[in-house]
Amino acid sequence: MRIDLHTHSNRSDGTTSPAELVRHSLEFGIDVLAITDHDTTEGWVEAAETAATEGLELVRGLEISCKLAGHGVHLLAYLPDPTYEPLAEELERVLDGRNSRLPATLDKLRDLGIDIDAKDVRSCAGAAVAMGRPHVADALVSLGVVKDRTEAFDRYLGPQGPAYVNRYAADLFEMIATVTLAGGVSVIAHPWASRHNHDALDPPGLARLKDAGLVGVEVDHEDHDTKTRARLRAVATDLDLVVTGSSDYHGDGKVGHEVGCNLTDPGAYEHLLALAGRAAAASGRATPTVLVS
Ligand SMILES: [Zn+2]
Ligand SMILES: [Zn+2]
Repeated sequence: MRIDLHTHSNRSDGTTSPAELVRHSLEFGIDVLAITDHDTTEGWVEAAETAATEGLELVRGLEISCKLAGHGVHLLAYLPDPTYEPLAEELERVLDGRNSRLPATLDKLRDLGIDIDAKDVRSCAGAAVAMGRPHVADALVSLGVVKDRTEAFDRYLGPQGPAYVNRYAADLFEMIATVTLAGGVSVIAHPWASRHNHDALDPPGLARLKDAGLVGVEVDHEDHDTKTRARLRAVATDLDLVVTGSSDYHGDGKVGHEVGCNLTDPGAYEHLLALAGRAAAASGRATPTVLVS
């Protein structure tokens, strides 16, 4: 059984539609797929409809932009009830923050002599709910300023870059609690990726997050090298956190992240579903079902 629990469609910064994402995953032999767009559930319906017709088990999820001790942390939330108001409201705040960041980013680029219009970014963003840095990066690529998104982030848009603008992100502890109350489960995405500061996600930090309701950590991710994976796996086992593995597929938007390049163990997946079932029962929320083919 091939299980990939972290992928993006063009409703955030991926390049394939939710339907194409499902079909593409089937071509890569995936049995269980989670759609986890940034801060939006916009792709769920289309992905679920295609998954039902094509016979793929779909886990509805999202990757929420959070902060901890002043640093960005990505939180994977699986199977929360999207109509739970505190969750919906917080996601709206995060999306608003993303959209209002754009003019400030474009101002900074202009100061650097790079003239990009919001319209250029909009056309790169296609069907996305919010225009984010990846779309600015795409505009920089089409202008020929950089060769790909990675270079755009390294040279301009990353936290150390001259065009970086801070933005609103959800408080990590509060968001974990909100996801639980929405009947879902939380897993930290790529906690020890080198491009993020992860001082606060050390073993004691992860233990505190577990106390707050965190159920798992994404260990097998391309941003973790072999050593990092081994260390993180040991910490997760120690803390009794579910270990997941996934591709973080973005279509053509991120190279080296093909669907299924990392997988989640079927036992870990079952465990995750059981914990989600427990959260749903405790919250009384109608959480989305996993479609079984
Ligand atoms: Zn991420
Ligand atoms: Zn991601």
